[in-house]
Amino acid sequence: MEHENYQRQLELLLARLGGRRPRLLLHACCAPCSSYVLEALTPYFDITVDYYNPNIDTAEEYAHRAAEMRRFAAQAAELSAPVEVLVAPYAPEEFYAAARGMENLPEGGARCWACYRLRLAHAAQLAAAGGYDYFCTTLSISPHKNAQKLNEIGRETAARYGVAWLPSDFKKKDGFKRSTQLSAEYGMYRQDYCGCVFSKRELAARAARQAGASAVPRAGCPVQEPAPPAGARAKP
Ligand code: SF4
Repeated sequence: MEHENYQRQLELLLARLGGRRPRLLLHACCAPCSSYVLEALTPYFDITVDYYNPNIDTAEEYAHRAAEMRRFAAQAAELSAPVEVLVAPYAPEEFYAAARGMENLPEGGARCWACYRLRLAHAAQLAAAGGYDYFCTTLSISPHKNAQKLNEIGRETAARYGVAWLPSDFKKKDGFKRSTQLSAEYGMYRQDYCGCVFSKRELAARAARQAGASAVPRAGCPVQEPAPPAGARAKP
């Protein structure tokens, strides 16, 4: 199937706004991933961030990422407009119910689609209830996240809840690179695993296979260098 260019679709939509500032409900997984997305979108939208990530494995990690999210939204000089951040209560049972039966699947497969679906549904429900014009997620900025799948699920979710999906692929146009710059500039906490306990175990198993310190960890969401291809030498 031919891949759609969601970055191009976003650019066309922005060009048609003609100075209007629609309201956007933006699901955010963490501060590093949201940094570039907020920088890119605050010139065009009035944005409310939805921090809802029940996939995260511990309450401490959840709170830490939420605090970083709030800190960036409050401090970032790069933002063209104030950003409100809504932090949902930590509800890991919602993720475990969605992931049931898929616990042992590798990252990047059906468990992740269910995880995307869960988080996008939360954002869409909030957007519909609050009368927002669009909803979206920061997730596509990660080189480890499937933008085609995210946009497909975004459209399905939009139809289900009656609110428009903002097409996007934020890793394009050097979005991921810019997020690494902003993360360094703001001294952000940069987690080294996607979020769920299964991704943490997968990371640990990979590191063990790659013989410890020389291994380059793979990260699902955070601002980290992508893993080397299979068979590649680990960095010295
Ligand atoms: S690896 Fe990441 S996207 Fe996949 S299920 Fe775990 S937290 Fe969700």
